[in-house]
Amino acid sequence: SSSKEITTTVEPSKGKPPVTQDSVVNLDQGDPALYKEFWDGTGDRATIVIPVWQTMSYFSDLSGFCWFVEPGFEREVRRLHRLVGNAISDGYHLLVGTGSTQLFQAALYALSPTENGTPMSVVSLAPYYSSYPSVTNFLNSGLYRWDGDANTFTGDKCIELVCSPNNPDGGIRKAVIKSKSTKTIHDFAYYWPQYTPIIEAAGHDIMLFTVSKCTGHAGTRLGWALVKDTEVAQKMIKFMELNTIGVSKDSQLRAAKILKVVCDDYELSPIGKVNHLFHFAQRKMAERWSRLRAVVATSGIFSLPDELSSYCMFAKENVTANPPFAWLRCHKDGVDDFEGFLREHKIITRGGTKFGVDERVVRVSMLDTDEAFNVFIGRVASLK
Ligand code: PMP
Repeated sequence: SSSKEITTTVEPSKGKPPVTQDSVVNLDQGDPALYKEFWDGTGDRATIVIPVWQTMSYFSDLSGFCWFVEPGFEREVRRLHRLVGNAISDGYHLLVGTGSTQLFQAALYALSPTENGTPMSVVSLAPYYSSYPSVTNFLNSGLYRWDGDANTFTGDKCIELVCSPNNPDGGIRKAVIKSKSTKTIHDFAYYWPQYTPIIEAAGHDIMLFTVSKCTGHAGTRLGWALVKDTEVAQKMIKFMELNTIGVSKDSQLRAAKILKVVCDDYELSPIGKVNHLFHFAQRKMAERWSRLRAVVATSGIFSLPDELSSYCMFAKENVTANPPFAWLRCHKDGVDDFEGFLREHKIITRGGTKFGVDERVVRVSMLDTDEAFNVFIGRVASLK
């Protein structure tokens, strides 16, 4: 078909090298490779072809609230939230970003006052996502600066980052700073049914989501924000204008089609008849977690956070959480640098200090390929 010709005339990206029985297995990043199997199985239903004369303009919709949001993308995102029930989207402005990483920076910009000249403190409860300190500080902004663990914060005004379920440890979190002048950014990258029971439709001031961890399309680099306050949303839009003059329309169209297929499958086909995305990923994750818990239980030297379960409004039953990362602790005498110890055994992980805690714990991605996960499990089982 003509669509095949179009997609095969340019060489596709090579991705990461394959993992073999004795190669290094890299589970440092949370690359969502696990989803490839699902999308392989859907054939071309979610594939799009963009004619060369389309998406040429800078503008998506000059009559909308945000001129660079594709109306089709906005429609499918709102539909997805209604389907899953993880967030309230009615009454919220929807913004799009190059990954939620860009929207995170737009939110810091929008929430930091410009008047008094002292940078706004940015905090998050430890262990916190390792990118928060680095992304907050890398430009040495005069508007905001990283101020560490929310538990040790003593000032009266800050931006608190709330990640739930939490990267790295999977904890279900609420804001911990009670002061009225605190502003929050809720990072809901993993608030999807494959990772955690959907316990409520969240309705916070700024909520960030990403297709990276929802459908596995991290390379599309697309995130979205639900923002309650109009002025804050307008400032975020200004950031996006100055930073990248909007967001790729091609990516938005692709993501819109992908989300449309996810929603169509749930709305039009009974569960069990076709492969539904969240059910597929939930099953994969549950399988991986039970294998990991089994080898950890027999190891005698490792431990994991306790399993969490509760009623899921999406699944309409009690379900067990399957966090995207394993927060693995080592109790073996003499192993102080656990990341280094695992590296000697050809397993690359991310050590606790990057998340604001000690070195005897590491974060391991649970989202990689079957090959990488299998080799990882085999190596952990052999460690005594
Ligand atoms: N927030 C959290 C908690 C994450 O783990 C990630 C991805 N690792 C992101 C945000 C960023 O996602 P992206 O920029 O791919 O949308």
